[in-house]
Amino acid sequence: MKCLLVLFFLSSIFACKKHKETTSVFIEENKALVDDTIPVALNTIMGKFNPAKDSSFVLIDEKYADRQGMFMNKEAYHAFIKMWEAAQTEQITLVIKSATRNFDYQKAIWERKWKGQTVLSNGENASIVYPNTKTRALKILEYSSMPGTSRHHWGTDIDLNNFNNSWFEHGEGLVVYNWLSNNAYIYGFCQPYTVKDSTRSNGYNEEKWHWSYMPLSKHYTQYASKTLKDSMITGFLGSELCTELSIVNNFVLGINPKCK
Ligand SMILES: [Zn+2]
Repeated sequence: MKCLLVLFFLSSIFACKKHKETTSVFIEENKALVDDTIPVALNTIMGKFNPAKDSSFVLIDEKYADRQGMFMNKEAYHAFIKMWEAAQTEQITLVIKSATRNFDYQKAIWERKWKGQTVLSNGENASIVYPNTKTRALKILEYSSMPGTSRHHWGTDIDLNNFNNSWFEHGEGLVVYNWLSNNAYIYGFCQPYTVKDSTRSNGYNEEKWHWSYMPLSKHYTQYASKTLKDSMITGFLGSELCTELSIVNNFVLGINPKCK
């Protein structure tokens, strides 16, 4: 056990060093994205980088996705391929619909909903129906993260097959969901946004499509719980509400306890 711990510690140092080298390259190319005033690891968990310029990320083959140009963390991607192949042997096709999204990408999603340019999943225009900004933020937060707080920044989290819970409740969708529920853990994947109950009283609503590669994401969750503060989350419409809404505690950490 001790040997394993030492090995993990050494590999973490190596990964960190390697990441720093990579970071120095993309800092040059993404000056507008990277915040030089905070640690590199915080930039990473807050999505302040460009995955296309970071060697720890890899382009997802179209075979596994519904479009080109998406990225995942390399280790998480290799685990996903193993899971995809196992599902295929049972005539189940997993399709990545969204993967890594950096701060700017998430900001675009958030602000389009904030301004009503994209309607909410129930068809409402949030800017008209919810003039009170706190209520509006909470409504958007049912399914969308504030920029800087999304697990999609990490490269470990993916959305699969369909963005509606109801799709996963019958027919083909139910077969997919049952397979994931019974097998995803074998490949390291976990559903962070389960139904809200006594074990998960805060955070986003249930998302049967969102799966997270735990061997890495649990470390990001732990790092966020120690380092990420509501006051650090700035730079988009509504960000002044972060502290009042306890975004880190209620949303970043409001996940299925089995995924921590
Ligand atoms: Zn997601």
